[in-house]
Amino acid sequence: MDVKVFQFNGCNKCFNESLLLKLSSDLDVEYIKDPKTWKEEEIETAVITGYVLPSDIDLLIKIRSKAKKVIAYGSCPVSGGIYALANQNGHETTPLKNLVDNVIEIEGCLGEIDELKSVIKDLELTKPRKLCDLCTRRATCEYLDTVNRQIELDDEETCFNDLGFLCSGFVARECKERCIDYNTPCRGCKQLVGRSGIRMLGMFGTLMGNIEVATEHSVKGATDKLADEEDDVTRSLPDILGNFFRFTLTTSGLPKGRIPSSGSLLEDLFTGRLIEELPLITGLIGGDKSISLTLKIIESYEKANQMEVSEQTKKYREKLLRLEEKLHDAIEKEDAEQYKEITEKIRQIAGNMNLSNVFFGGFKSKIKDEDDFEDYKSHIFEVVEGTYKNGSVEYSIDSEGIIKEIKIKE
Ligand code: SF4
Ligand code: SF4
Ligand code: SF4
Repeated sequence: MDVKVFQFNGCNKCFNESLLLKLSSDLDVEYIKDPKTWKEEEIETAVITGYVLPSDIDLLIKIRSKAKKVIAYGSCPVSGGIYALANQNGHETTPLKNLVDNVIEIEGCLGEIDELKSVIKDLELTKPRKLCDLCTRRATCEYLDTVNRQIELDDEETCFNDLGFLCSGFVARECKERCIDYNTPCRGCKQLVGRSGIRMLGMFGTLMGNIEVATEHSVKGATDKLADEEDDVTRSLPDILGNFFRFTLTTSGLPKGRIPSSGSLLEDLFTGRLIEELPLITGLIGGDKSISLTLKIIESYEKANQMEVSEQTKKYREKLLRLEEKLHDAIEKEDAEQYKEITEKIRQIAGNMNLSNVFFGGFKSKIKDEDDFEDYKSHIFEVVEGTYKNGSVEYSIDSEGIIKEIKIKE
């Protein structure tokens, strides 16, 4: 079976993950890093990775017309993924299915390779379970009166939502990356139900009981802002859009926003997000540089605010950086075996390829059984207004920890 994988815009992590298709001897896979250079030919299966824009339509129509099967692999081509948050600032990331017909969608950030293999081979997919059904945390059903922004690591038994940390597990499907296993609430990259952001918003409002969510209404429509500035939920959860519509803005039914763009889609995606979300976002979208990018963001903040990190933390971080170099090598050579081996090693430290275990001050969960976790456990940090710079990354946050400006040299 011949398969062509096309990388469009943004993060290349799903494109790289598709290297694992080469481990199936019945698949003949070719990787096209720049779709503009593709010489048109008949294709059995075309796999599209990265986010797409209306300006990609001509190329996408060509691919659609030549391919028997077109698969949108990963949240980026399915919904614009996390990049679609830039639509708040007038950008136009769009689901692939809005540009061409007959698209099979495999959602997930990272997209799941086993699902991709099954769809290529026309195998039946197993019925997905709700993520909560696989979670070891348990609901207490206590009323909440605050939402907590930073992750408190001491309770590993109670449902994140009952602790006041927004977790989208209620509306998510089971997944391979399992952020929830690394003290990170689910951010809903694999929807179990349609319009999951709206449902989650409703559910969370109910859970909070005495906290009112007000939705701004305008005849023209806008998703610039979803709540009044003075209500409790806005004070405790300043980025409603980024928290509830992280992967689903384009499919939520909400209109585009009217906040002026900085001119850069990447910067617009980050602006308005929260400091504690920064490493989580770079872990998702950093592609083959996600480790170095995430550590640059974290370390610039730690250094400027004199946050001490342990020798063990430094050792694990150095190990991750060395693994990233080896990963580049495997990707360059299109060596699927080496890619598999290296990504497994990254997962052992970082939890998953979203780097859920990597955080300010250390790591969120124990890496090896024999370790003394106290030696590298991450901790709650103070939000300090300022500008933070480290090599190719510079960002500014306000006193609430909201990102006001960011520059990332690609
Ligand atoms: S941002 Fe997520 S869905 Fe998009 S390419 Fe990267 S890993 Fe895949
Ligand atoms: S909402 Fe999150 S923390 Fe709570 S049970 Fe579901 S997956 Fe676990
Ligand atoms: S736990 Fe993580 S990988 Fe799994 S659905 Fe939630 S956000 Fe996605």
